[in-house]
Amino acid sequence: MLVMKFGGTSVGSGERMLHIARIVQDVRSGWLPAGHQGPVQPDRPIIVVVSAMSGVTDALLNAARRAATGRPGACDVAETLREQHYQAIETVALPEEQAVLRAEIEQLIQEFRNLCMAISILGESTPRGLDAAASLGERLAVRLTAAALRKTGIPATAVEATRLIVTDDRFTDASPLMDETEQRVREHLIPLVKAGQTPVVTGFIGATREGWTTTLGRGGSDFSAAILGYCLNADEVWIWTDVDGVMTADPRVVPTAHTIPEISYAEVAELAYFGAKVIHPKTIRPAMEKNIPIRILNTFNPGGPNTRIVAQPDRNQGGVKGITSIKGLSLIMVEGRGMLGIPGIAARVFSTVAAEGISVLMISQSSSEQSICFVIRREESARALQMLERAFAYEMAARNVDRIWALDDVAVLAIVGAQMRETPGIAARVFGALGRAGINVLSIAQGSSEHNLSLVVAEPEADEAVQAIHREFFGG
Ligand code: ASP
Ligand code: MG
Repeated sequence: MLVMKFGGTSVGSGERMLHIARIVQDVRSGWLPAGHQGPVQPDRPIIVVVSAMSGVTDALLNAARRAATGRPGACDVAETLREQHYQAIETVALPEEQAVLRAEIEQLIQEFRNLCMAISILGESTPRGLDAAASLGERLAVRLTAAALRKTGIPATAVEATRLIVTDDRFTDASPLMDETEQRVREHLIPLVKAGQTPVVTGFIGATREGWTTTLGRGGSDFSAAILGYCLNADEVWIWTDVDGVMTADPRVVPTAHTIPEISYAEVAELAYFGAKVIHPKTIRPAMEKNIPIRILNTFNPGGPNTRIVAQPDRNQGGVKGITSIKGLSLIMVEGRGMLGIPGIAARVFSTVAAEGISVLMISQSSSEQSICFVIRREESARALQMLERAFAYEMAARNVDRIWALDDVAVLAIVGAQMRETPGIAARVFGALGRAGINVLSIAQGSSEHNLSLVVAEPEADEAVQAIHREFFGG
């Protein structure tokens, strides 16, 4: 079994849908991506997972939020969405299917209008309401994609994952209940596959036990694909996107960046966490648990380079796999000579920010214990300072804590690679490269996994820093 997920840009128009239908057809006839090794079961069944057409989820959520403010015209976007999907129908659907398909689309658009209306009457958009609205994008897209497959000659059936993926009730960020999900997935998908159908399943969505529609978080279709792969013991999960796999750096920053042919689950998790937007971070766990390789491919360049994500990459690609950066951050510093040896300061610092729901991206403390610094999003910096000053008012008065302050507009760079552990001198090369480029490092942290060396630099220098480190390890 092979699960293939196509993202929003890959189903962004009728033409794009037909293009992916041809990809599915090619894979069915034995096409294999570059770098594939080993035999493949002939006629292995394919499960297709799709996202909403690009921009649709945003449009639905914006409309629902605006409806809650009572602004007139918030629901007008329904017209645009109908137009967009109707137009695609003419391209993707066989003539005899078009009327039925239009009726189905019309019904979903009507569902959206009703929902939008209800939200504007209540003057409130609850997470549950937002999920109901957001789910429509995928529910529209699967019908069109399945039609495109049929037009290409592949027997295909649209399936709503509300019947398959059972989740908890954390609306807008739900987690799957794996045992129940596994049972439902097998119950519904295996008979379809046995009947020779290719299921086209909505990404991103699920439902609670009671049947309320949920979503798995923005960008969650990758996660849906991994969940289905897990439940079906798929031999691979292919994530089709609009870039050539996972790159050594963002190609917009480093023009010589190239595709990483093979990378481990742990490494890709670090890169994804630090902002390399290739795969939803939650995708990794279900795949890892069953040791299912994930491959990242480009629908715009199917024969091109791609990345395979596995437990243990066999090719030795040196210590550093990739470099990524996140901007728009602040470095918060808590300093004081009197902090030395006072237990519990770090715990209080982090419980104070946690109580505010502020997430911390990186932490470092000097061993002299005279300062603790950590990185958070810039928008949250003022609030964090205010709360910390309040929490440490007593220590500040007693001069045990001298100063709590923020350095805004910083970026975190993450240098990722599992073999950094066994390769001495990586840190020296990183700092040497930055030194030669005249870039000042504000703070450093290395996780004990040694998969990731993180540094903080001033945001305006971040791109140059990534370029300098990339040049050091990959040349060019
Ligand atoms: N359509 C959803 C989103 O835009 C899910 C996805 O694209 O993966 O967040
Ligand atoms: Mg998307």
